[in-house]
Amino acid sequence: MASTILCTCGNRIGTNLFAGSKVFRLILDDEWDDLGNSPTQDDFSNLFVHSREVFHCEKCSRLIVFWKHDGDPTYYTQESANAA
Ligand SMILES: [Zn+2]
Repeated sequence: MASTILCTCGNRIGTNLFAGSKVFRLILDDEWDDLGNSPTQDDFSNLFVHSREVFHCEKCSRLIVFWKHDGDPTYYTQESANAA
């Protein structure tokens, strides 16, 4: 992943640990369940490493999801509550 993501609104979002960007993680229920009853620190580390990264654009509120670590991101915009 590059050190910045160019959002479709034109905002550049830093992806390194010190960029201050909001990064979220997506974890499947199945992956969580696979940890079992006595997960180790390594199990949690693996879960974290293999989770999907989600960035939040502060400028336009899009969510940018990396479904695959080495793939292109998918951009999601918030729908209006008044949209028909
Ligand atoms: Zn944006």
